[in-house]
Amino acid sequence: MTVITCAHCQQPLTGELHEVPFPPDPAVFTGERMGVPLLDRGTYAISPATRAIVLHPDDALGTVPHASLGRRGGCCGPDGLDGPNLLCRGCGAEVATEQTDCWVEHLVAVSPEAAVLGTGEH
Ligand SMILES: [Zn+2]
Ligand SMILES: [Zn+2]
Repeated sequence: MTVITCAHCQQPLTGELHEVPFPPDPAVFTGERMGVPLLDRGTYAISPATRAIVLHPDDALGTVPHASLGRRGGCCGPDGLDGPNLLCRGCGAEVATEQTDCWVEHLVAVSPEAAVLGTGEH
């Protein structure tokens, strides 16, 4: 099991997670992933494109929303296009980007330079 912690203050950003393979892009765009979580709760996957640590939106327990509404643009939820929109609850560093709008796959992408993958005790 793995806990993702803030690289700045070592505060946990998640509970215990286990790694799963990053879901492949669908061969044909069907839209069926729009508005639904990309990953199950309790799991994470490393994006092959960005190296970001991708989570279920409800698993980023140690984060708080960015105070700037400009970072949280979107119609039903933040679309994640305006830069990091989640801050470390401990130190306020920009650590992750939430995208939970209706037309995107729902996920939280933790910046690889802002977080540390730690091994849990179990
Ligand atoms: Zn929407
Ligand atoms: Zn922190």
